[in-house]
Amino acid sequence: MKSVYMDNNATTYVKKEVLDAMLPYFTDIYGNASSKFYRVGREAEQALYTLRESVAKNIGAEHTNEIYFTGSGCEADNWAVKGIAFAHRNKGNHIITSKIEHHAILNACEYLEKQGFDVTYLDVDEYGFVKPEDVEAAVTDKTILITIMTANNEIGTIEPIKEIAGIAKKHKVIFHTDAVQAIGHIKIDVKEIGVDMLSLSAHKFHGPKGVGALYIRNGVKIDNLIHGGGQERGKRAATENIAGIAGMAKALEIAVEDLEANSARCKKMRDRLINGIRTSIPYCRLNGPEDEGRLCNNVNFSFQYVEGESILMMLDMKNIAASSGSACASGSLDPSHVLMAIGLPHEIAHGSLRLSVGEDTTEEEVDYVIETLPPIIQRLRDMSPLYEGVEK
Ligand SMILES: *Cc1c(COP(=O)(O)O)cnc(C)c1O
Repeated sequence: MKSVYMDNNATTYVKKEVLDAMLPYFTDIYGNASSKFYRVGREAEQALYTLRESVAKNIGAEHTNEIYFTGSGCEADNWAVKGIAFAHRNKGNHIITSKIEHHAILNACEYLEKQGFDVTYLDVDEYGFVKPEDVEAAVTDKTILITIMTANNEIGTIEPIKEIAGIAKKHKVIFHTDAVQAIGHIKIDVKEIGVDMLSLSAHKFHGPKGVGALYIRNGVKIDNLIHGGGQERGKRAATENIAGIAGMAKALEIAVEDLEANSARCKKMRDRLINGIRTSIPYCRLNGPEDEGRLCNNVNFSFQYVEGESILMMLDMKNIAASSGSACASGSLDPSHVLMAIGLPHEIAHGSLRLSVGEDTTEEEVDYVIETLPPIIQRLRDMSPLYEGVEK
């Protein structure tokens, strides 16, 4: 069996068409888009405009100049949070977010708390849903920003962001959403959602790593995060990564074009995995929503009496790449903040496994995981003192 990649929520491979779209910008159209006095510079500038236009169109932005390219999803999130906080601090110092946001949002908020801002971290329900009425109840006359993710990267919960956008609008508060996990899996139209700012990252939808974008609706005042030259209409300095941007634009174009077919395919594999695991492994729990409101490619289970890391190591020996919510990226022993927020006790959160399928995941691969996982869990349970006596 060749290796089976079940970690598409962490990153995805770059598609051939995407790579092909990038290559000319390394060798032929290599000019600096700010160098307008010669042809290769102007070509780069023209390309940048066309690429921006394509990204704008594919997320439903009204104007091309509402797209700002960044170096990652993390940068887009940081910019949204800090840029709004500092630009609007005369008006208020209160920010509303949720307990299950990506660390790019949470840690930016924590940083702002040290700068005198006040942050409300909303609870979620047992499936990871933010309640719109909680958002509304948290709004004060000092609230300057609401930021709630479109879809959660660990447990796949799709948040009611259209409703939340409506609440934000009603109270004249700026609304940002981290849509990094949503692109390519659910339809994203910034106008239809009614969002003021939205983050995306190319490598989560078969584009290259190190390139993202922040949609900023015209009229929203935001401070710079990166100071320097006048790129991105003076709002984000740095010579544009045109090859990366070309890759992102192409990947987005394909993701939008193939959205329905790919999400249907992912969903089929996701459900095959969920059913297969449920029926073959006792003492397991599906984290996140059952079906409605769940990302089409995300599976997240907790297995009692085992450690997530041990599962990952044993899966790796069988050539299966997956992820665990049992410890965060920093290597700390704390379980995932998302699993804690949905109310899992520590010992159950520690035995968690995320399997995220891709549009190319085959039934054969899914079945290989379904065959491989139960004996691994059983072996780990047999070694666990906590499990002793449970089955007897
Ligand atoms: C991956 C991810 C990010 C960070 O994007 P990078 O481009 O890797 O910095 C932010 N938010 C969510 C929900 C993500 O899944």
